[in-house]
Amino acid sequence: MSDVIIIGAGPAGLSAAIYVQRAGKQALVLEAMTFGGQIVNTPEVENYPGIKSISGFDFAMALYEQATELGAQVVFDKAVHIVKSDKLWRVVTASEASYEAPAVILATGAKNRKLGIEREDALTGFGVSYCATCDGAFFKGKAVAVNGGGNTALEDAMFLSNACSKVYVVHRREGFRGEPQTLEALRAKENVEFVLNATVTRLLSGADLAEVGSSGVHDPNRLAAIEVTDKMTGEDRILEVEGLFIAIGQEPENRDFADVAELDPAGYIVAGEDCMTNSPGIFVAGDCRTKQVRQLATAASDGAVAALAACAYVG
Ligand code: NAP
Repeated sequence: MSDVIIIGAGPAGLSAAIYVQRAGKQALVLEAMTFGGQIVNTPEVENYPGIKSISGFDFAMALYEQATELGAQVVFDKAVHIVKSDKLWRVVTASEASYEAPAVILATGAKNRKLGIEREDALTGFGVSYCATCDGAFFKGKAVAVNGGGNTALEDAMFLSNACSKVYVVHRREGFRGEPQTLEALRAKENVEFVLNATVTRLLSGADLAEVGSSGVHDPNRLAAIEVTDKMTGEDRILEVEGLFIAIGQEPENRDFADVAELDPAGYIVAGEDCMTNSPGIFVAGDCRTKQVRQLATAASDGAVAALAACAYVG
């Protein structure tokens, strides 16, 4: 039996696993998809203290190796339910396995927010993407758009601008949440055009392009253009792009655990900097927690805090 079950193998969960192992306890990490969480989608991490520059994937790999070499067990199975079982918590998975431990750390992160417009799902993988690192290489020499104004959008746009012929940055207002330094670097790029106060209102496939007067040859089943609408004037503009990278933030996925930890109205698990939830023995770490700053550094910090609190609880 493990001492601490950690749900999620992103930066918060793996940092927690490292701290649990180093405290002499046994960690079991349950991960629904693949290790690394959102950071694997980040081309270059340049704001993690002590590391000048590293790809998100390499960072995730290093964390995973560090945790597993310390003895943390990682099982790739989705935790779907947690129930109290005498003095233990029992975590039940999608494959109907169950694991028990006195303490659980929820480190479920968050998933990409969708635009919610027509054909978004149908064109995902056919020009629409949520991951520039994963899919950017397919668009070498082509025109693409990035939607969003946070760090993910700015870093994606920077990454894509190195390989794509043109990058439109479509953002719904003039101010950006992303770091001013990255914004300035993007503004200096000749192949980057900002389309501000605008929202993406329509996705057009190759088959639709004739309708809007394009003479180009396009795959009828792939994205060929997007329509953006100016929020001030209401005017529509067609941008002929073969790729749209949607980077409009994340949403937590904690509904499965709502009966063991209080959620705020947006679905984040309510806890302060001590990472303690309202259930004794249930802790929370990383982007799924109510907090102001969601960064790699704060995810790692939460992992350490939650792990040490969980180990103290286990005794
Ligand atoms: P974010 O900071 O929440 O930014 C989301 C952006 O999308 C905002 O500009 C927002 O506009 C826009 N947006 C939200 N909903 C929208 C909608 N329905 N339609 C159009 N636009 C919409 O998300 P993020 O960039 O993914 O970053 C998430 C967290 O990870 C942040 O804390 C970020 O700093 C961090 N991060 C860190 C690194 C790093 O450390 N290297 C890299 C990437 C991300 P408004 O501004 O108008 O709300």
